[in-house]
Amino acid sequence: MTDTDVVRPDLMTCCRAFAGLAVGVVRPRRPDEHFLASLSDQDLPAPRTTVEVIALPQRERMVPTPAIAEGVWRPARSANLINAFVVRHPRATFLVDPGVCVDVIGRAVAEVPWILRVAVKPRRDTIDIGQALALADLDVASIDFALPTHLHWDHVAGLLDLPGLPVYLHRPEYMWMMADRLAPQGGVRPALRDRPTTLYDLDGPPVLTFSRSLDLFGDRSVLLVDLPGHTPASIGILAQTSTGPTLLAGDAVWGRVQIDRLRQKATYPGMLADAERDAAWETLHRLHAIRHRITIVPSHDRFTAGQ
Ligand SMILES: [Zn+2]
Repeated sequence: MTDTDVVRPDLMTCCRAFAGLAVGVVRPRRPDEHFLASLSDQDLPAPRTTVEVIALPQRERMVPTPAIAEGVWRPARSANLINAFVVRHPRATFLVDPGVCVDVIGRAVAEVPWILRVAVKPRRDTIDIGQALALADLDVASIDFALPTHLHWDHVAGLLDLPGLPVYLHRPEYMWMMADRLAPQGGVRPALRDRPTTLYDLDGPPVLTFSRSLDLFGDRSVLLVDLPGHTPASIGILAQTSTGPTLLAGDAVWGRVQIDRLRQKATYPGMLADAERDAAWETLHRLHAIRHRITIVPSHDRFTAGQ
């Protein structure tokens, strides 16, 4: 397949997604108490330095809360954003989830199958990554590299406007993106082409409830942890800030309400967006178990750490 072929979910998958939405509204998936009890909470090693996490400006889009979390009705609608973050470490400044490009609807969203597009299409006045950096008074030249939590269009399309910026990618996520039929849609492969790329593995020890990690700078200030499910090799960035540890959790969950109430994403659009629903469900339990120990920031929820 080429970079621009559009692959649509089959009819049966679409029917199951809508049927599951109806069921989930009244009968959400029950938490797995056995799995929750089996989780061991490892130490979070003390960092030798701290980093700064800056949320770039975005525009809210109001979406029905029952489409974010099964069986949650209040509030009826919730704010949805496309967040990008800058992390400042003494040795490097990097971009977590480089947001969206100029004309993202034409250049990226148009490739997404309509059944998913109607649920995820951003506002026309969505702030592109260049604007977002400028509004935050950040110079593009000050960014050393990009580090996506996973390879979906709304997390990497901004790279189309940042040619040559080096990117760090989780090796199995990269392999999946190159091989899968649905994953590359929305300008993902073009965004990653022709730029310095470093592939990494999470070959470090368990941290908190996560099974693997990578100490990015060797000083325990930024730990990458595994959050599989939404995509097969999604990661989170656990940043040690002056106000405590903050986990940038990507799309492992879409809203904080999922973590607090242990509710999976609604089947529509969640079933079409998550690559492995059962793995995503386990990851949600891992997040729920540590929700009082660290600040967890889903990419599409409002950034609250330090504010
Ligand atoms: Zn995603």
